[in-house]
Amino acid sequence: MNRNKLITKEIQINGIVQGVGFRPFVYRKAVELNLSGYVLNTSTGVEITVNGEEKKINIFLYQLQNNNPAASKIKYFKVDNIPEQKFTEFKIKKSTQQIGTTLISPDLAVCKDCVREMFDKFDKRYLYPFINCTNCGPRFSIIENTPYDRPMTTMKDFKMCDYCKNEYTNPLDRRFHAQPIACPECGPKFELLNNNLEKIQTDEPIKETIELLKNGKIVAIKGISGFHLACDATNTKVVKRLRKLKDRPHKPFAIMTQEKNLSKLVDITAENINLLKSPESPILILKKKKNLLSELVAPNNPNIGVFIPYAPIHFLLFDEELPFLVMTSGNINNDPISKDERSLQKICDYFLTNNRPILNRSDDSVILPTRNKNLILRRSRGFVPSPINLPINTIPTLGMGAALKITFSLTKNKQLFLSPYIGNSFSKNTMDFYFEMLEKYKKWFDIKPKLIACDLQPDFFTTRLAKKQDLPLIKVQHHHAHIAAIMAEHHITEPVIGIVYDGTGYGTDGAIWGGEIMAADFNKFQRLFHLNDMPLPGGDSAIKKPIRIAYAYLKKIGIDTNFLENISEMEKRIISKQIENNFNVFQTSSMGRLFDCVSTMLGLFPEISFEAQSAMALQFLCDENNIKNAKIYSYEIQNDKINIQSILKEIAKDIHNGISPKKIAESFHNTIIQFTVDAVTEASKKSEIKKVVLSGGVMQNKIIVENLNHILTKNNFTVYLPSELPSNDGSISVGQVMVANSKYLKT
Ligand code: ZN
Ligand code: ZN
Ligand code: FE
Repeated sequence: MNRNKLITKEIQINGIVQGVGFRPFVYRKAVELNLSGYVLNTSTGVEITVNGEEKKINIFLYQLQNNNPAASKIKYFKVDNIPEQKFTEFKIKKSTQQIGTTLISPDLAVCKDCVREMFDKFDKRYLYPFINCTNCGPRFSIIENTPYDRPMTTMKDFKMCDYCKNEYTNPLDRRFHAQPIACPECGPKFELLNNNLEKIQTDEPIKETIELLKNGKIVAIKGISGFHLACDATNTKVVKRLRKLKDRPHKPFAIMTQEKNLSKLVDITAENINLLKSPESPILILKKKKNLLSELVAPNNPNIGVFIPYAPIHFLLFDEELPFLVMTSGNINNDPISKDERSLQKICDYFLTNNRPILNRSDDSVILPTRNKNLILRRSRGFVPSPINLPINTIPTLGMGAALKITFSLTKNKQLFLSPYIGNSFSKNTMDFYFEMLEKYKKWFDIKPKLIACDLQPDFFTTRLAKKQDLPLIKVQHHHAHIAAIMAEHHITEPVIGIVYDGTGYGTDGAIWGGEIMAADFNKFQRLFHLNDMPLPGGDSAIKKPIRIAYAYLKKIGIDTNFLENISEMEKRIISKQIENNFNVFQTSSMGRLFDCVSTMLGLFPEISFEAQSAMALQFLCDENNIKNAKIYSYEIQNDKINIQSILKEIAKDIHNGISPKKIAESFHNTIIQFTVDAVTEASKKSEIKKVVLSGGVMQNKIIVENLNHILTKNNFTVYLPSELPSNDGSISVGQVMVANSKYLKT
């Protein structure tokens, strides 16, 4: 009777629901429950009309929301009762066009069903490196336009064979409407080229590649969203050559290895392994166990970045004699990751490449696990272009980013679209990549910015670009943006205390800031405490030669500088003159520079080849377990300044007395933690704020983050860590749009 009454409902679902097996899932559930009606992709998401018994429809609704496919993300779910409609069956209908935004799925690591099939001798796709299904495979990297359908992707030029077509059109098949579906008969193929781009005649380009790698060759391998440069990670000679070719003397290389070999290489937990096996398949920074690799892979570094095969091709590259591969982004120096061969010809011996174009590039994402939370250091492949939900409504806004580790942000209502990692703004190719992605994002997500936000620093390329646009422009102080980004991540709208320990950021007084404790909300900030200003001779040039910073700092304090090594008499003379005449000397409160100073006082890296190299070296001297018992150097907090001069005096004295660099580094870390806790406690007394946000590049230092989090939490603060958004400049654009919106709407 009533129980058997038939009703009809209309369901609208938005989020990541296209290209992730959502419609076949809906279809299967409806058929199982004996419901009739249809499901279709619209340009805003998925729409379902369903007719059947109320009880069964309720089960259906529950399952849609709770058993949805692993790679799907439901952001909006709306159910309406509509007048009864009768259907003979349940159908998957053709897509319709509608005004609105569909989300584009990120690229997904190959799933375990596909891997199983790939290694099954009797499977049609045995050893086929483009295997994929609705649960896995390329998405973002192959899409031209929305809605996500094969003709809108780089698969459009591959005509499906009958076998694939059968699967593609069968709603009960795992490959039903898997847009990149392919097989050896109809899909893309790998081939091997030498570095003159001439084809090497071989039936087995992948096996041949393994041999080349074993023989110490560098092979550029085309992956899902860009090229990697690969070589045998145990072969010092080839790793050294790769460093030379890439002009990258020290910066660590990431290692790819099979899951079974991970524990030989690094200390790893079950949770870490799950993260590596997730659809995002990031690089994780973990502690080296014993060094099975060439020391040149990550020189003087106790950690190593590891990831496991995530594209089908990667699974085919390893064997017992080749367990560990360097897999570093295929790019030249300051350029973005490459999507074609030409730009890499000079830095590799061979190419293992294929005929499926990469439309949209993204680098591998990088995550640093800490005691409490995973901190993302680079948010790119596997994450982009998924939107970030915002705590406030926005007008369409473009955030430009700063100069290093650039990303841009575009907002629409309560959604923010963060670009892939772009790179540093010093190369034309990098900025071309920026413009390319910006135009695509505007088109895909249908955003026409009405407001633009940039850094306060007038000389940044991004600032100059922003000024040229005919739009209301709001300049956002760098460290205010750092705090706002992490506030947005945690959906905090009320004032917080922000600890921003950073390298460089232009202050409202024209000085270079970077050791800041601020009270802030999205609208404004107050600089409550900062490290006292120190001289930075020659600005950026000293950042590359941190020994000059040590010399300038010690000179200013009046500490004897004779013990400093690796600085010439000429350099000393010039810097002294600069300080004396106050010529080309900037004032800085930067925490990054303080690390540089102490690091070079201890004789580490007088010159650096990548950002934060000397700060990292100082961190690596420490035994993490010793920090809380390490001696604390004296410091003073007066008015709004944290005076660090006595810290440096005592460190110089310790060096003089032969105290070990390890002990000094541990004490230095503990001192920072202590004065920060003191300053935050003081700031909280003044402001009555108990929420604390950590941000800035120095918050990639595990020791600082873990200890601050621990002590502040114990002291009844609520601490928010940069977990889903990077603490470095990779999230500056997010902070910029948040601040700009808040300011714009209040004026
Ligand atoms: Zn799959
Ligand atoms: Zn086929
Ligand atoms: Fe910064």
